[in-house]
Amino acid sequence: IRWTKGLGWHDAELVPYAPLSIDPANMTLHYAQTIFEGLKAYRQPDGGVATFRPEENAKRFQASARRMGMPELPVETFLAACDALVTQDRAWVPGSGEASLYLRPFMFATEVGLGVRPANEFLFVIIASPAGAYFPGGVQPVSVWLSEEYVRAAPGGTGAAKTGGNYAASLVAQAQAAEQGCDQVVWLDAVERRWIEEMGGMNLYFVFGNRIVTPELSGSLLPGITRASLLQLAADLGYEVAEGRISVEDWKNGNADGSLTEVFACGTAAVITPVGSVKSARAEWTVGDGRPGEVTMKLRQALLDVQTGAAPDTHGWMHRLG
Ligand code: PMP
Repeated sequence: IRWTKGLGWHDAELVPYAPLSIDPANMTLHYAQTIFEGLKAYRQPDGGVATFRPEENAKRFQASARRMGMPELPVETFLAACDALVTQDRAWVPGSGEASLYLRPFMFATEVGLGVRPANEFLFVIIASPAGAYFPGGVQPVSVWLSEEYVRAAPGGTGAAKTGGNYAASLVAQAQAAEQGCDQVVWLDAVERRWIEEMGGMNLYFVFGNRIVTPELSGSLLPGITRASLLQLAADLGYEVAEGRISVEDWKNGNADGSLTEVFACGTAAVITPVGSVKSARAEWTVGDGRPGEVTMKLRQALLDVQTGAAPDTHGWMHRLG
C-alpha cells in the first residue's frame, strides 16, 4: 500500500514475493526513515488460523510512525492487510503447535531526494515466512552480555519505536556479546548506566519467588506485546506482577542472596527464553542454577497454549481467520 502526501493511502495490492527496485537517492537508504513489526499466525486445533494480538502491533506501528515523522496506517487497514496475506498464504501456516507463519509488516520512505526532512512518499509492505519452533531440541537458557560500553537508546531518542536505526546501533554490541561467548546483549539505561532496560530483541522479567518484576517503560525500551500479555497472564496465574526498576546491583545481589530465583526474556520470536548466565566487563554470574526455571516454563507454556488454541482465549487475544 502506497502513501503520498495530499493523496493519503492508495494502491493496495497483493503480489508474489519479488525484489523491489530502489533509486540510489531513495531517502530511506540515507536517512533511515523506516519502521517495522513482527507477529505470528498459529494453526488452531480445529484447522483454522489465528494471529496473536495484531491490533497491538497495528497500534505500536502507529506510535512508531508518529515518532519517525511517518504517516499513520489506520488500524483496520493494517489488520485487513495481515488478514489478506495470511489468507493467501494459508497453506504455509504450519499444521499445529509452536511453529507459525511469521509476518513482517514494514514501512519506508520511497521519495527520491537528498534533503534532510520527512519524506512525502512511503510504501507499506508485509512479507511472510514460515517459522519453526524456536527451540526444536528443548528450551535452552541464553547467556547474556551486559553492555556497559554502548547505549541502545536515550531519553528523547527513538528507543520506544520499532525503527531500523535502533537495531543498526545495536549490531556492534551484539557482535561484542558473541566475541565474549554470549548469545545476547542486555542494555542499560543511558543516563545512570545502572538500570536494566531490555535484551537485544526481547523484554526481560525478573522472578523473586512469587513476585515477578519487569523493567518499567522508561521511554527508551520497546513496549513488547509479549511483555504486556505476560503482565496479565502471570496475574491470572496468581503471581504478584509489577513493573519497576531493576539495577545491575539488584540482579547481582538478588542472585547472591537467593531472592532472585529466575530471569527470562520474552518476545514474539521465542515467546519466552530463560536467561542462564550473565557476563560484563567486571563480573560474571549464573542465574539461579542456570537451568530453565519453573515459573519461566510455566508462563511459557501458558502463553503458548493460548496462542496455539490449547487453552481458552479468556482475554480475546486471538484474531481468527476462519
Ligand atoms: N525489544 C526489542 C528491541 C524487540 O525487537 C522486540 C521484538 N519485537 C521486543 C522487545 C519484544 O517485543 P514483542 O513482544 O512485541 O515481540
